[in-house]
Amino acid sequence: MDRNLKVGVVGLGLIGGSIFKALCALKCNVYGVSRSNQTIQKAKNYSPNVSKSLLYLKNCDMVFVCTPMNCISKVLDQLNSILSPETIVSDVSSLKSFLCNKKYNYKFIPTHPLAGTEFAGFNYSFESIFQRTKWVLTPSEGTDENDIKKLTDIIEVLGAKPIFANPKEHDEAVALISHMPMLISQAIFKTAKDNSLAMKLASSGFRDMTRLAMSNEEMAVDMINLNSENIQHALLKLYSSVGELLNEDYESQIKEIKKDRQIMYINGNNIL
Ligand code: NAP
Repeated sequence: MDRNLKVGVVGLGLIGGSIFKALCALKCNVYGVSRSNQTIQKAKNYSPNVSKSLLYLKNCDMVFVCTPMNCISKVLDQLNSILSPETIVSDVSSLKSFLCNKKYNYKFIPTHPLAGTEFAGFNYSFESIFQRTKWVLTPSEGTDENDIKKLTDIIEVLGAKPIFANPKEHDEAVALISHMPMLISQAIFKTAKDNSLAMKLASSGFRDMTRLAMSNEEMAVDMINLNSENIQHALLKLYSSVGELLNEDYESQIKEIKKDRQIMYINGNNIL
């Protein structure tokens, strides 16, 4: 990565704060913008280069937009009249199709880091969050290879592995591995929580199955609103899998499932 690049980060929450802290630790030229005075004050402990104004990013070579999905389009529009046509802008939102049809004056390359925790905000951000994770890029056709390289260089410096996908397939895939599991996790908790004995007995299995019920609410609402069709398809597939498991040879199916799941683990797939 070119350490002389001026990199801006908008929205210093869990993801943006983590990019900001990691780039500060790497002694990069990093500029942060966030909404609240409290976050600005906390970020100043890492670098004096923080502001509430997007104008502060005017001279950046690259900008990561890390706000919640419900306001990302507005921020991308605002940056349109601030940044130079040479600036590379990337977002980190968990969905990609809703952003992919818009043209901007700057060079826009949408991305999605597959990293996170159930916590939100700058306090919970940490510089190693992207280590050994995957980071999806969904560049549109004709995007300059040199610009993609500049972005993947930063992604790799942050510790993640770049993976390319098209926006539609990305959104279908994350419905299966992230959004539908979050909804099921919330539903499991909702179903069991009023049984006081169940809550007294709940242990590691229940804890693991319901961790996603503690997801950031704003992000969860955005996911359900923006990816509802793919989530519904994922749920239909889930119902059908449950039906197959219960109505066909359960034992041989779960042996196969267990074997496949263990192979993922043995291959060091780091979602596990
Ligand atoms: P978060 O912790 O709530 O952080 C969002 C931050 O955006 C807040 O700290 C807030 O800053 C700031 N913000 C809100 N509106 C703003 C605006 N108009 N201008 C500037 N800053 C603004 O959420 P997050 O988990 O980091 O999620 C951020 C993005 O990352 C979302 O698009 C999400 O889809 C994506 N993502 C999240 C995860 C995950 O697991 N959490 C994983 C991958 C991708 P203040 O603190 O200053 O109010």
